[in-house]
Amino acid sequence: MPRPISVRIHPEAVRHNLQTAKQSASGARVWAVVKANAYGHGIERVYPALAGADGIALLDLDEAVRVRELGWTKPILLLEGVFDSADVATAVAHRLTVSVHDDEQLVLLAAARTQQPIDIQLKMNSGMNRLGYRPDVFRAAWERARATPTIGSIGLMTHFANADDGAIDWQLDRFDAATHGIPGERSLSNSAAVLWHPRAHRDWVRPGTILYGASPTGAARHIEGIGLRAAMTLSSRIIGVQTLAPQETVGYGRTYEVERPMRIGVVACGYADGYPRHAPTGTPIVVDGIRTRVVGRVSMDMLTVDLTPCPNAGIGSTVELWGENVKVDEVAEAAGTIGYELMCAVARRVPVDIDTLAAAQHEAAESVTA
Ligand SMILES: *Cc1c(COP(=O)(O)O)cnc(C)c1O
Repeated sequence: MPRPISVRIHPEAVRHNLQTAKQSASGARVWAVVKANAYGHGIERVYPALAGADGIALLDLDEAVRVRELGWTKPILLLEGVFDSADVATAVAHRLTVSVHDDEQLVLLAAARTQQPIDIQLKMNSGMNRLGYRPDVFRAAWERARATPTIGSIGLMTHFANADDGAIDWQLDRFDAATHGIPGERSLSNSAAVLWHPRAHRDWVRPGTILYGASPTGAARHIEGIGLRAAMTLSSRIIGVQTLAPQETVGYGRTYEVERPMRIGVVACGYADGYPRHAPTGTPIVVDGIRTRVVGRVSMDMLTVDLTPCPNAGIGSTVELWGENVKVDEVAEAAGTIGYELMCAVARRVPVDIDTLAAAQHEAAESVTA
């Protein structure tokens, strides 16, 4: 029998979250961002839920090819563009839209062997200082791109450094000033800007993390009331119980000492499964539907929980590490990171299944209304 840990993916939640993003940025078209294998959820698993998106954005070529092979006919955007001429050939063969952030990429595209011009998104570095042309040279780059016969439509894009804590106007103002009078569709907004900065919505938005129900800030409380649903549930079971007397300690490093008699549950989940080792005593966790806390250090294959609030729990009790009842961001915040990282880092050894029941119910509902 395999260890009782598993991760369940909820395509219905992704479908719902995409709707929420669309409502939030109504009027804009949506690039659904599925880089890093759909933030760890699996592109194939969430693909059926993305039918309502206008395009799919990612950065690995093999992911782009997989999306085409799944039957996607709408645009696919390569967020980091091409790295060599073989990439250009793949982009041509699969009709990919490529982002262009420097002249090397323009040269590669100019040398493309294609009858059909390649659509691009010309990227401005408006202050993030990662990829893109600086505002003062952006117009000249656009002129070069426009003069390149192998290049088709030119969208204009930039990326915000801190859409999650409020200040985007400085970048937006730079972008608007430097693109004034340049034709082309604009694409600026990540999840945070989709939720909180209508001024940045423009023609296309690029939500990623909110499609999976996680918070752009990494804090679950910031998306309370928006109605996003968790697209991933990491669950396991209690495989051991210890009853400890005062002054006894739990686990490696003896970091947690019991003050009063306490039942401790041992959960089959550790950092080798992708649970963060930095999650301290107090990190929320749900046992048999009741919220309790992690105590002591997370080890490779196991972690320990306080069973005081759930006296009926014992071996075999179900544990939700994260999902709808404990948000991935709550665990992340306790561990000093963000939900994005935890979702992407679930280990290969954890078996995955898909919540097909909810998907089937959705289809049944659709066929009734159709
Ligand atoms: C990852 C990424 C996004 C999506 O960001 P979220 O914060 O997950 O919404 C959008 N645009 C670019 C260029 C990205 O790299």
